[in-house]
Amino acid sequence: MRAPLPRFAAGRKQSAGKTAFTTLSRLGDRRTDDMIAHESALIPGRECGECTVCCRVPPIEDPALTKPAGVLCQHCIGNTCSIYKSRPQSCRDFYCQWRNLALLDENWRPDLSGVLINSRLQTGADGKETLAMVLMIFADHAVIFDDGFATLVAIWTDRGDEVILNLLFDNCRRGWETALRPFVADGVAAGSLAQVKAGIRNAYTRMQRGIQT
Ligand code: SF4
Ligand code: SF4
Repeated sequence: MRAPLPRFAAGRKQSAGKTAFTTLSRLGDRRTDDMIAHESALIPGRECGECTVCCRVPPIEDPALTKPAGVLCQHCIGNTCSIYKSRPQSCRDFYCQWRNLALLDENWRPDLSGVLINSRLQTGADGKETLAMVLMIFADHAVIFDDGFATLVAIWTDRGDEVILNLLFDNCRRGWETALRPFVADGVAAGSLAQVKAGIRNAYTRMQRGIQT
């Protein structure tokens, strides 16, 4: 049984100074068989290349390394980790979903798309943990109005995943997130991409109002 959906009106505003997303270390700690089963193995031949988004955007809380959100790690030189062989465990454990999912083509590489995609476990009111796909928008918010973005949201919603829109602002130091299902479920059921896009725009508008208050 799926966990109840979060109420839309609740949204989830981050307090100043807190970040909107799970840190690398927490992601590493909370991997479970369920999550691992959901993620495919790393896609052969797919490399991070020039992307250093996960060394900049999320905060890192590791006994060996702490850094705030939105600040490039001190060990990132060019697009290379200068301490690669001895990098912290949370860095070793972490790969974004672009490295895992063939569904995401090359254009979804985080530094190219402006979207960092993670999965996380959510605990429902019944105590059960379910998996959610978290779409972190760390650059131009306009990407969420693209057909490709709406298609991705529709695919994951249709197969039963929770999809979380996580808007980052203030150089990634603050964010706002909401579950998209209440906004896009009707469009997904109707098979209408236009309706899904309208639902995403509606969610964005509501979130923007919340951010400004
Ligand atoms: S965000 Fe993904 S693609 Fe970019 S460096 Fe991290 S793991 Fe590699
Ligand atoms: S230690 Fe290396 S892998 Fe970890 S955030 Fe810094 S540059 Fe990236």
